[in-house]
Amino acid sequence: MEHTKLTYEQLLSEINELRYQLEEANDTIDAIRTGQIDALIVQGEEGHQLYTLKTADQTYRMFIEKMNEGAITLNHDGLILYCNSRFAEMVNMPLEKVIGLPFETFVSAKSHDKFNSLIKTAWKDECKEEVELISRQQQQITCLLSCNTLELDEGLALSLILTDLTTQKDTEKQLKVRNEQLAEAHNITAKLNDELEDTVKSRTADLLISREHFKLLANNIPQMTWTNMSDGEVNFHNERWYDYTGLTFHQIKELGRQEVVHPDDLRLTMEKYNAALKSGGVFEVENRYKRFDGSYRWHLNRAVPLRNDDGEILFWVGTATDIEDQKQQIEKKDEFIGIASHELKTPLTSLKGYLQLMSYKKEELPPVIKQYIDKANTALNKLQRLVNDLLDVSKIQAGRLEYELIPVNVTTLTNACVENAKHIYPSHCIRTQTENGLIVNGNEERLEQVLMNLINNAVKYAPSNNNIIIKAENHGNNARISVTDFGIGLSDEQKERIFERFYRVEDKKYMSSGLGMGLYISQEIINNHYGKIGVCSETGKGSTFYFDLPLIKQMSI
Ligand code: ADP
Repeated sequence: MEHTKLTYEQLLSEINELRYQLEEANDTIDAIRTGQIDALIVQGEEGHQLYTLKTADQTYRMFIEKMNEGAITLNHDGLILYCNSRFAEMVNMPLEKVIGLPFETFVSAKSHDKFNSLIKTAWKDECKEEVELISRQQQQITCLLSCNTLELDEGLALSLILTDLTTQKDTEKQLKVRNEQLAEAHNITAKLNDELEDTVKSRTADLLISREHFKLLANNIPQMTWTNMSDGEVNFHNERWYDYTGLTFHQIKELGRQEVVHPDDLRLTMEKYNAALKSGGVFEVENRYKRFDGSYRWHLNRAVPLRNDDGEILFWVGTATDIEDQKQQIEKKDEFIGIASHELKTPLTSLKGYLQLMSYKKEELPPVIKQYIDKANTALNKLQRLVNDLLDVSKIQAGRLEYELIPVNVTTLTNACVENAKHIYPSHCIRTQTENGLIVNGNEERLEQVLMNLINNAVKYAPSNNNIIIKAENHGNNARISVTDFGIGLSDEQKERIFERFYRVEDKKYMSSGLGMGLYISQEIINNHYGKIGVCSETGKGSTFYFDLPLIKQMSI
């Protein structure tokens, strides 16, 4: 059409004609879709062509229209004769614009070859293939294209059904990702599982080794050993225990401790055992265990708890060491000390007597001899104190340190000791603080011995400070006698041990004469007075030794 030669009126009538044609075309499409007509005319390469839809009835068209798949009919030239709204939706174009276009327009470049060969086959046979379509906005749509020939009045047409695979593909993609993640998770789990298995295996092996190790150790040490649970129930004894007692595990469990512990030691053993279970501290006690032949031997028992990371007690490990031989040796030694000190006492007494006789001699003695007699007397007194202490220790061991208790005024007793001390240690500054008339039930001689021992120590262990404070005061229901010095003092560990027999602090710097018996004897004496002896001390600052005795009354004089 040559527009330049047309008049305005002609152009106007042409536009009207075209508008009319367009409206007609729209009506036709609508009519086809709704099933009102069965044929249409399409402008092809060889001019106008009429197509009728031979078998189409309304139901069929409605069904096509409602389908979720795209439906298209193509002629031999590949032009779209018909399509449903789903296809128009897929390619995102108005339906009326899609009809009459070559279908290839919507096939992506990479699917062209595949599509062409599919169409070629489709005219001969039913076939289907996955093809990439392209929408108006260049969006890719993966579709399954199912082809079928369709017999129309004008000849064969091709019917295409397009199933949008985008969602399916996306799901497949997601599924693939999920599967990969799952496979990875599976691999990790399998790896962890392997590692766990290895750890369990090695732990089991470790456990086995450590159990065997423990058993080997337990059965080969000279001590009897056991383990007990936190409630006190014993759950293991070593072989030595069974050999010694001649009992089996079940017999010991059934008969209980009273079967193996000496009746005289049972109460103390159980007291200490239960106290340790309650406090979680170390269990330590000496007792006698019955052997398979009925004889008893002394043992030193020690048990310590094993705790987990939270500090809870898992179980206790205990050992019983045979100390029978040591006990016998100590007994022999005690016996020897007893006999020796007793034997020494008689010649010492006569020596002292002779010295006294010499001093009372009528004729005047040369001064040098007098001096010798004084020195001999001092040495003799020291020796006598040592022998007396040794005798006391052996009496305590034999349970024979006996004396009468009568009412004693400890205020008077303290003052007398202070006077004595001032006489013996004239260079010391001894201050006193005594409450009047403190009366206790006691033995004057023994209480004097205790107080003098504390004063002597206050002098001995304060080499560079000669101040001493001595007090006798009311302390609750007790009379408290105390001696304070400003000397070397004691550590916490030393404080715990100084009342033990023969214990002396091993410090060469401050070593002075003594055998470690004074405080041991003092404690025994105070215990026998139903009192208590103790110490407050700090290293380098000094100590206060005190003893409390139950007051029977306090007289005001
Ligand atoms: P001894 O004095 O003969 O060694 P004791 O039984 O009287 O024996 O004392 C035991 C130990 O306690 C002493 O060896 C000493 O180490 C320590 N001790 C006693 N009194 C004091 C004190 N006042 N200050 C420091 N240490 C003391």
